[in-house]
Amino acid sequence: MNSIILKPQKDKAIRHRHPWVFSGAIEKVIGFPGNGETIQILDSRNQFLALGSYSPNSQIRSRVWTFRKEAIDQQFFRQRIQNSIDRRNKFRQECDDSAWRIVHGESDLMPGLIVDQYNGIMVVQFLSSGVEYYRKDILAALKETTGINCIYERSDVDVRRLEGLSERSGLISGDTPKELIITEDNKKFLVQIATGQKTGFYLDQRVNRKIVAGYCAQKEVLNVFSYTGAFSVYAAANNAAHVVSVDSSSPALEVARRNFILNDLDVNSAEWIVEDAFQYLRKLRTQGRQFDVIILDPPKFAVTAKQVEKAARGYKDINMLAFQLLRPGGILATFSCSGGLSEALFQKIVADAALDGGVDAVILERLQQGLDHPIGLNFPEGAYLKGLICMRD
Ligand code: SAH
Repeated sequence: MNSIILKPQKDKAIRHRHPWVFSGAIEKVIGFPGNGETIQILDSRNQFLALGSYSPNSQIRSRVWTFRKEAIDQQFFRQRIQNSIDRRNKFRQECDDSAWRIVHGESDLMPGLIVDQYNGIMVVQFLSSGVEYYRKDILAALKETTGINCIYERSDVDVRRLEGLSERSGLISGDTPKELIITEDNKKFLVQIATGQKTGFYLDQRVNRKIVAGYCAQKEVLNVFSYTGAFSVYAAANNAAHVVSVDSSSPALEVARRNFILNDLDVNSAEWIVEDAFQYLRKLRTQGRQFDVIILDPPKFAVTAKQVEKAARGYKDINMLAFQLLRPGGILATFSCSGGLSEALFQKIVADAALDGGVDAVILERLQQGLDHPIGLNFPEGAYLKGLICMRD
């Protein structure tokens, strides 16, 4: 079998069950593994450590499938997906939401595979060459374990290029409507599977939307990076006095308006702003406008570790502006979904933003992604979504 041999001392991460082998840790490749093929990962004394997929184009040269010697086949994937489903079934019974994430990549021991489920339709992303290689087996295993036949692919994501793969999207099997309506916390949301961002909806913020809505009753709320207005719907449904939604995507805001109508909320008294957030926040500052609650949920500013510094400047800028737009006693709900940026660094950025903005504030709550986006205990990168609820003095 094709193998990679790690350099001496470079087996520590794998021994601690971290699922990635970086190119710099590899002493030697034995054989000629193709992109995505399964290889043995051996330590410098040729001792077996794990089986992983081989990705010759990526800095993450291998992603671990298993730390045991076992066959990587349809049965293997069936078991892994069943484990993911069982994990979620424990808490899923407590809510009647119709959409949730079934498989969350590395944290569910399925490196590079994302599967979201919307009303009995699965939307999949194959993000690593390993899952791409086993595409057929994985799709068959998904159908068997879920009983769902309808699968749509949204692997139109640029990280695939790092894996030597081109982007791909489209119907895989069954039939999908152009748009569908999901329920979340007794609210309705329109999801456009083929044309929306990511797999259509940001399921990871579900828990946080509820928490943030709790601060919005009778308040003036500014929801920045609103996408299809999920936080706005929650805020308005919880009797916010006024909600302003800002996003650079006009199709997203169009859906946001429709989501207000779907939930019998007053679409006309709310404000819908298609603009760049950085510019719009400055404009609001010049106008002297103030808010009681501001939500900042920007897209990933840092994809790789190298981009973290630039990302930090972006986060600091919007957070500083937001602090300045808050009334005394106001609430800032601020998020980062950059996996490469730690919780500690994010807090420091937000602290510096308050300092630069000339505002004193405290943290009331720390937030993270929902339970259907678990975090692998040995995979800290899985804790990608970090949120702080801050109150300014
Ligand atoms: N809070 C949303 C998810 C936000 S995703 C929810 O709960 O559903 C990030 C959003 O930021 C996307 O909708 C994207 O269109 C928007 N965006 C990206 N760059 C932007 C910019 N410079 N200004 C305004 N919006 C931006």
